[in-house]
Amino acid sequence: MKNLIYAGVIVLCILVAVLVFVKTRGAGSPVNDVPDSEMIWVKCLQCGQGYQMPLKQFLKEGAEKAAASTKGMPVAPLLTCQKCGKDGIVKACKCAKCGEIFREGSVVGDLPDRCPKCRHSETEAIRAARRQQQQ
Ligand SMILES: [Zn+2]
Ligand SMILES: [Zn+2]
Repeated sequence: MKNLIYAGVIVLCILVAVLVFVKTRGAGSPVNDVPDSEMIWVKCLQCGQGYQMPLKQFLKEGAEKAAASTKGMPVAPLLTCQKCGKDGIVKACKCAKCGEIFREGSVVGDLPDRCPKCRHSETEAIRAARRQQQQ
């Protein structure tokens, strides 16, 4: 009986994963599903400054840049920085603890929102809080 439950859970997980995959990759324009109010942090690799911008704008400009660039580039082109006008914008995170704005995935092999300065990770903090609640 226990094995059956495990099998059921695994099947459910796979189903959810497939659904998420299909949804995120789905045809049409996923950009339009993004609420205008959703803001993300970005950081400029050229001048090192970080600022907030709507996720929608980030995705739209990225798509426009990709469409505008001739010949398929191996990597997605970087967005233009509002501060210095150069192309160097990448998705970033703002550390909830020390306020450092850093490129997502700065600490290789760790959580994408791990702060390279103080090692705080919001994802980890949320997980830890959840674990405490369950106990
Ligand atoms: Zn810049
Ligand atoms: Zn930090």
